[in-house]
Amino acid sequence: MRLDSCQSEYSRRLYYHKSCPKNKLVDFIEFGIKLLILSMKILEYQSLKKLNTFGIDVTAKYFAEFSSINDIQEILSNSKFLNTKKLILGGGSNLLFTQNYDGLILKNNLKGIELVKQDADFYYVKSAAGEVWHEVVMHCIKHNYAGLENLSLIPGNVGASPMQNIGAYGVEIKDVFYELEAYNLADKTIRTFSKADCKFGYRESVFKHELKNKYIITSVTFKLFKTPQFNTSYGAIETELAAMGIIDKSIRAISKAVCNIRNSKLPNPAEIGNAGSFFKNPEVVRGKYEFLKIKYPTIVGYELENGNMKLAAGWLIEQTGWKGKILGDAGVHKLQALVLVNYGNAKGNEIYDLSTKVLESVKEKFGVELEREVNII
Ligand SMILES: Cc1cc2nc3c(=O)[nH]c(=O)nc-3n(C[C@H](O)[C@H](O)[C@H](O)COP(=O)(O)OP(=O)(O)OC[C@H]3O[C@@H](n4cnc5c(N)ncnc54)[C@H](O)[C@@H]3O)c2cc1C
Repeated sequence: MRLDSCQSEYSRRLYYHKSCPKNKLVDFIEFGIKLLILSMKILEYQSLKKLNTFGIDVTAKYFAEFSSINDIQEILSNSKFLNTKKLILGGGSNLLFTQNYDGLILKNNLKGIELVKQDADFYYVKSAAGEVWHEVVMHCIKHNYAGLENLSLIPGNVGASPMQNIGAYGVEIKDVFYELEAYNLADKTIRTFSKADCKFGYRESVFKHELKNKYIITSVTFKLFKTPQFNTSYGAIETELAAMGIIDKSIRAISKAVCNIRNSKLPNPAEIGNAGSFFKNPEVVRGKYEFLKIKYPTIVGYELENGNMKLAAGWLIEQTGWKGKILGDAGVHKLQALVLVNYGNAKGNEIYDLSTKVLESVKEKFGVELEREVNII
């Protein structure tokens, strides 16, 4: 009987053990290598400083990277992780660590982008969750799959994009979302989530609430237009396109315009630690907005479909005088009041405390509650 004639690893082992001692040795070495690989995957007290864009200097008690579902299963089969808290890590661009992480951090390295199907109007593009978001956007632009261009240059990975329904320049991923697959940490099955299952809202999804920490998102499929629907009414896109000398719009030109605007406005995390907008834009009832408008005629607000008004959190913060303020190494960015920054060695708690002060000032001045967008860990 030959080695490859055996169906399962179990039967292979059984066969070996019943047969010659040489094969037993081969099996033993193979098993040892597997154990070694497994143990190599789990690091203890791993520094997370370079794995979060705030650059907060904390450690993870356990740290492992996975590149396949098998890896996830292998890592989690270790009994010591049964009751250990777990955090899935993508690019670390929407997190604030306020302490060392006393659990297992699972870093997602699932890779692959694929056109899974197409119909008369749409391309269905499936991306593994560990792909870098902007690289997927660039891939789609290269192949003329339209719809992601306004979301160019958002940091992070694909797996986190449905978590908070990422959005920028008038587009959210819910607008181009088809479905996602996720690994259930409890029953170890893969479930497919439709758009409705995800319960998307403004920087919200089911994964931030009732399903928080229950699933690892493993892939996301986007439904992208064959005929582009240009969305250039938001922000300074039109102005930037004009400055670029663009007359005939294209998804490539819009992406470039968005990148130019973002590069000129947002601090680069490679230079100053930050996680983008720290706060969400608050929603208030129209009556409240009208009341504030009398007192503050320049207040910035946008009408929502439900009749409520969304206020620009950056404007509110600016009015409280926090823009550009620095406390120790933590600060409110001098050009973007919505962005809190780490000027060097700020602790997560210092940034958190600064955010509390900002929240309190806005509440006191306007009677409006700001909500943090960044995940506090
Ligand atoms: C300079 C800058 C600009 C930004 N601009 C924008 C913007 O314009 N619009 C916007 O929406 N956001 C923006 N962000 C925020 C951030 O880029 C996004 O939220 C991004 O999607 C986070 O991806 P990530 O991989 O870094 O997630 P991480 O920070 O690693 O994780 C964020 C959350 O998602 C969870 N998570 C991550 N991957 C998975 C997974 N596979 N399965 C389950 N849970 C998972 C984590 O546990 C955590 O709770 C900006 C950030 C920065 C630093």
